[in-house]
Amino acid sequence: MSSEANALELKDVEIVYQRRHRTPVRAVAGASIAVKPGQIVGLVGESGCGKSTLARAAVGLVAPSAGSVLFHGEPVKPLGLRSRPASLTGLQMVFQDPQSSLNPRRTVGSQLADALEIVRRTPRSGHPARVSELLEQVGLPASASSRYPHQFSGGQRQRIAIARALAADPTVMVLDEPLSALDASAQAQVANLLVRLCRDLDIGMLLISHDLAIVNQVADEVAVMYLGLIVEQGPTGELWRTPRHPYTEALIGAIPQADGEHSQPTVLPGEVPNPAAPPAGCRFHPRCPLAFDRCRTDAPPLLTVEPGRTQACWLQRADVPA
Ligand code: SF4
Repeated sequence: MSSEANALELKDVEIVYQRRHRTPVRAVAGASIAVKPGQIVGLVGESGCGKSTLARAAVGLVAPSAGSVLFHGEPVKPLGLRSRPASLTGLQMVFQDPQSSLNPRRTVGSQLADALEIVRRTPRSGHPARVSELLEQVGLPASASSRYPHQFSGGQRQRIAIARALAADPTVMVLDEPLSALDASAQAQVANLLVRLCRDLDIGMLLISHDLAIVNQVADEVAVMYLGLIVEQGPTGELWRTPRHPYTEALIGAIPQADGEHSQPTVLPGEVPNPAAPPAGCRFHPRCPLAFDRCRTDAPPLLTVEPGRTQACWLQRADVPA
């Protein structure tokens, strides 16, 4: 598909954090990812791999040091969400903790009305009806409007946070670990809600998660990130059946086979290297059971290995020993 079809496109994004008297951290070392309308792209990797930083860059909360972020072809400027141009209000973010992203002292209805006021697409007289509609879209009764956030469960609060994002009529939503603070049953329900909203409203979603089981359940595409780099990307089903990168394989292998329980955060053997001093060559080589000499000196490029699939590992190249 052409790049015009992408609703959100991050191209060769680098994000470097300068630190006083200390080595800068290259939290994202050159990552490209695209989201089409009506598509859920999962971005997975262990804690500290840079995926949340990349998510924040996707909505303009962090300025890339290099590369570009485009929303329907328009650059996403690093501005606060409230001061962004009207053309970018269709790019919304949902955070991990709905408790801290909602105002505890205001009713749900007034917070949704505030969101409608910012985008100014609905006249004030129409706010009550639109608030009821938004609540219905996320599976809550209209009566929720007059209640306060603390009167809801964690899953319901995350639904409210999603409703608030929907108030802007988004075409893209970036969701940073939206399910990780929820219990297993709420996780499944909110995951199903995201899929339904994506399909019904043709919203593109970039779903950041350390929970591969959830991503496998909802995402159309998956990008796997390791220490600031995308190391593999492809359609979810194919990537799960035939992971090509040893890191992807290890992540999938580490998903707990719990009986009906949601998976716990994935932990692989070996320590995640310090992002301020990443290993030379392939960044994964100190933890890779298949590493050989070249892996310690040369970084494998991210290459297309078959239509729709990319990966960065020397083992898939014809010019290395089998
Ligand atoms: Fe392992 Fe080498 Fe492939 Fe890196 S390039 S994942 S170290 S085999």
